[in-house]
Amino acid sequence: MIVRNHYDENKPLDMHNLQFDIAAERLDVEQWILEKIKQPRREFSVRFPLRYDDGHIELLSGYRVQHNTLRGPAKGGIRYHPNVDLDEVRALAGWMTWKCAVVNIPFGGAKGGVTCNPSLMSQAEIERLTRRYIWEISPIIGPDIDIPAPDVNTNPQVMAWIVDTYSVFKGYTCPSVVTGKPIEIGGSLGRLKATSRGTVFAVREAAKILNMDLSRCTAVIQGYGNVGYHAAELLEELGVKIIAVSDSKGAIYNNKGLNSAKIYKHKQKTGSVLNYSEADNITNTELFEISCDILVPAALEGQITRKNADKIKARIIAEGANGPTSPFADDILYDKGIFVIPDILANAGGVTVSYFEWVQNVQKLFWTEDDVNRNLEQIMTRSFNEVYDISVKEKVNMRTAAYMLAIGRVAEAKRLRGIFP
Ligand code: NAD
Repeated sequence: MIVRNHYDENKPLDMHNLQFDIAAERLDVEQWILEKIKQPRREFSVRFPLRYDDGHIELLSGYRVQHNTLRGPAKGGIRYHPNVDLDEVRALAGWMTWKCAVVNIPFGGAKGGVTCNPSLMSQAEIERLTRRYIWEISPIIGPDIDIPAPDVNTNPQVMAWIVDTYSVFKGYTCPSVVTGKPIEIGGSLGRLKATSRGTVFAVREAAKILNMDLSRCTAVIQGYGNVGYHAAELLEELGVKIIAVSDSKGAIYNNKGLNSAKIYKHKQKTGSVLNYSEADNITNTELFEISCDILVPAALEGQITRKNADKIKARIIAEGANGPTSPFADDILYDKGIFVIPDILANAGGVTVSYFEWVQNVQKLFWTEDDVNRNLEQIMTRSFNEVYDISVKEKVNMRTAAYMLAIGRVAEAKRLRGIFP
C-alpha cells in the first residue's frame, strides 16, 4: 500500500520513486526484482578543483549514476546547474532507464552532473570543468559501458570536449563515448532537434485521439533552450500558434502569436526572452495559467505540482523536460481531463536519436537526416500507441501506463538474466 504523503513533492527522487511504486503495484512482478530495478545500480561521486580565469580555485562536486544496465550500456545526459545533487542525479538516471525501455532501445539509464553555475562562467572555465569532470568519471564511462549526452547547460561543444578528453585518455579517437556531438566529429544529423521532434510526434498522436486540428491550436512553452526552442519551431511548422514562452528570467505572451526564430535571436542577443518588442512580459507563474491547447514544460523538474495543477488550462501537456509534473499534480490533471504525455515518452526522441548516433559510430557509417527522422517517427508513433493502449486497457493515466510498459520490460530482463553467481 503506497502512503503518498511519505513522498515530498519538492524532491525529484521521491517523485521518481512514487511514479515507480504507482505502476509497480499494478504489475505481477516478484518483489525482489522490483526492489532491485527501482534503485540505482552504481553511483560515482567525485570532487575536483576548478581554476577560474581570475586565478581563484574552487572545489566542485560531480556525480555519475548508472541506474540500470540490464538491457544494454547505461545512457544519459550531463547537467551543469547549481541545484545538481546526488539525489537529483539518481532521479534523472532512473527516468533514463524507464525512457529507454518505453521506446525499447537497448540501453539502460544513467545521468551525470556537476554542481556549478555555468551562467557565471566563461567558455574556458566550462571547458576546463568538462575536461576534469570527464577525466574523473572516465573509469566508468565508455562506448559499451556508459554513454553521456547533453542535458541542461551542456551542448554539442561540451560533447566535443568530452570526445577529446576521453580520446586523449584512451590514446585513440573514440567518438562513440558520447552522443549529441557536432556532426563534424561523428554526431548524427537530426540529433539537435530530436528531443523536440519526438515530442511533436507524440503531440500529433495525442491530437488525433482528441480530434484536435493542430493548425487551429495554440501552444505555451516553458523553457527556451534546446528542447523548448525547437519544440516551438517544429510546432509552428505544423501550424500551431505559439502564444507564450519563458526562460529562467521570466515569460512573454502575445495571444496573436509569436515567431519562434525571432525570439531565439532576441534571446541570443539579450540573454533572455524578456522585453521582446512583439510581446508583453509576464511571470513564470502566469505562464502556466494561460488558456492554450498544448503546454510544453521544457525547463526543469518540479514545475507542475498540487499548488498550480488546477490552474492549468491546456488540453495536452507534452513533457519535454524530465520530471516536470508530480504524481499529485497528475491526479488533478487527470480529473480535469488534461491529456499528459509523460516525460519518459514525450522526450524520448533525444535518446532515440542518440541511439542512432551510437549505432552509426559503432558501424562507422552515416545516415541521412531523412533516415534519422523517419526511424524516429516510427519509434515514437509505435511507443505512443503502445502506451496509449495500456492506459485504455488498464484505465490508468499515460504516465502509469508508460511506467507499466517500461518496468515490465526491465523486470523481464532481470528475470531472464537471473542472479550472479
Ligand atoms: P537547456 O539548458 O538548453 O535549456 C533549459 C531552458 O530552461 C533555458 O532556456 C533556461 O533558461 C530555462 N529555465 C531554467 N529554469 C527555468 C524556470 N524556472 N522557468 C522557466 N524556464 C527555465 O536544456 P535542455 O537541453 O533544453 O533541457 C530542458 C529539459 O529537457 C530538461 O529537463 C532536460 O533534462 C530535458 N531533456 C533534454 C534533452 C536533450 O536532448 N537536451 C533530452 C530529454 C530531456
